[in-house]
Amino acid sequence: MVQWENVQHFTQREFDSPDLKGSGAGMDPLTVYRLDALRCLIDKAFRINSGYRTPAHNRVVGGEPGSAHLIGQAADIGTLGWTKEQRRNLIILARKLGFVGIGIGTSYIHLDTMQRGRKVAWIYPNGRFKTIPVSDELKYV
Ligand SMILES: [Zn+2]
Repeated sequence: MVQWENVQHFTQREFDSPDLKGSGAGMDPLTVYRLDALRCLIDKAFRINSGYRTPAHNRVVGGEPGSAHLIGQAADIGTLGWTKEQRRNLIILARKLGFVGIGIGTSYIHLDTMQRGRKVAWIYPNGRFKTIPVSDELKYV
């Protein structure tokens, strides 16, 4: 269970699956603490577009069946109005903090800690997933 009273920058509600209030309880503690640390380093407000998702909500938003959102190990950070530099910085610091899955959208960046045995990166051309080399990820920001 996340000790929300120890989380400086977020409330549980921000991570709720929209179809189930209180579902931010499904968030993985280490993922939330890493997001909190990242938010500290970035010193810029984060909008959590999506945190924990129920299987039903994941289907509604077209999420992958094995999505890290289903196990509370992911968050999509809204980056509308952010500069490329700020988005790059988010990714660089997220990697340092142990986020292993990074999805680069045009208006958000997906960060997750789901163990796959390797780091992964992807983009969303035409709403689909396309894996990209981790070494090239900053080029897609
Ligand atoms: Zn996501």
